[in-house]
Amino acid sequence: MSNANRSVWPSVFIGHGSPMQIPDGAPGRAFLQRLGAWLGKPTAILCASAHWETAHPAVSGASRPETIYDFFGFPAEFYDVKYPAPGAPALAERVAALLTGAGLTCDIDPGQGLDHGSWVPLRLMYPGADVPVAQLSLQHHLGPEHHFRLGRALAPLRAEGVLVLGAGNLTHNLGATMRGMSRGPGAAPDAWAAAFDQWIGNAIDAGRFEDLVRYRTLAPNAAMAHPRDEHYLPLLVAAGAGGDGALGLRLNDEILFGNLSQAAFAFGEASSLARLRTTAAA
Ligand code: ZN
Repeated sequence: MSNANRSVWPSVFIGHGSPMQIPDGAPGRAFLQRLGAWLGKPTAILCASAHWETAHPAVSGASRPETIYDFFGFPAEFYDVKYPAPGAPALAERVAALLTGAGLTCDIDPGQGLDHGSWVPLRLMYPGADVPVAQLSLQHHLGPEHHFRLGRALAPLRAEGVLVLGAGNLTHNLGATMRGMSRGPGAAPDAWAAAFDQWIGNAIDAGRFEDLVRYRTLAPNAAMAHPRDEHYLPLLVAAGAGGDGALGLRLNDEILFGNLSQAAFAFGEASSLARLRTTAAA
């Protein structure tokens, strides 16, 4: 699907899933495959990955980013999968200029590749590996508000053909998910995970983005949903990138293994969400 007619892109948050989504037929893959078709191809993707943290904001500047295997104990063939999307050095320069212009700093890292938080979902969304990708790092120690601000500074990219993608998980408690594995991917959601997922979804529906920033004290079961919140922070980058007065639209409500939310949301003006609203509902 071509998106030559799309003037402003939505920003998007996805549950990036795990290496377990590499094999054909694995749970959680179908939504990401549909999402790529719904969105069509941007000119480039800026992916804020839960798996890249730095002291200061950084963007990857490689022209041919490596596929990084930052996971352990999975079947050997997973480590042979490549996602050879080109890098986006020009986008990296633009990101650095936008962040600097907003009073933030930004390093360009020419050696950073694509970690599994980026390439596992992008391989499903854009299997041709033909959309250039740059990664954006997180600064966990600077907290939620900083990441909303990062996203806000990057909002102009949406009018430049760039998909700003936050790749994390709306709930991410690995201990609980490991225990949930024995119940299977389609297990009934744990009450704590469902309540957290729904609360965030309601806040997004109502445009209460300041509540997303203060989720730790406001949302039910926040500490259970995110013992450490690196998988939540990409949501704030995406929400911030929706721009002033953004609307939010839920795109997916799967919860795998009882508590691993694969919730996805798009953010932006009503016009940038209009077609997604139709396709996602179909
Ligand atoms: Zn992850």
